[in-house]
Amino acid sequence: MYSCPSCGRSDIEKTDTCSCGADLTLLRHLDAVCDAWFNRALGCLAEGEEGRALEWLSACCAGRPSDAGAALALAKVWARLGHWREASSALSRAADIDPCIEGLEAVRQAIQEGLSPAAKPPKERAGAGSARGRAGEGRKKIPKKASKRRRKRGR
Ligand SMILES: [Zn+2]
Repeated sequence: MYSCPSCGRSDIEKTDTCSCGADLTLLRHLDAVCDAWFNRALGCLAEGEEGRALEWLSACCAGRPSDAGAALALAKVWARLGHWREASSALSRAADIDPCIEGLEAVRQAIQEGLSPAAKPPKERAGAGSARGRAGEGRKKIPKKASKRRRKRGR
């Protein structure tokens, strides 16, 4: 999940010292902390607290940028909140890290539908050939969610 900050070696899990001599104990601690954050996020999701889950997942993604599962979970939560652009961004990060991660396609599809609710699969549009004349009506605008809030800064 992480690589040596000193020499870049990647097969260093479960060791406290890299072969180059770098001390990896802090990294290992960080890895464990990220696991804990991820689990906090899952707990929040189970209780319907998506906002809190976003915080924990964001922390996890920042602490462990190679965590495709955390990025994908982040995409799911953004999608659940209707923030499709953020969801899409998190999804592409997950795909960059691990293109084969389980659940990627399902989330991608959900986001696609969220981004363009008017675009239905071709088979549902079959037979609607004459309806194409109305220019400008093809695309629906996505309404901004009322839940979109600015983050408040402490003073
Ligand atoms: Zn090293």
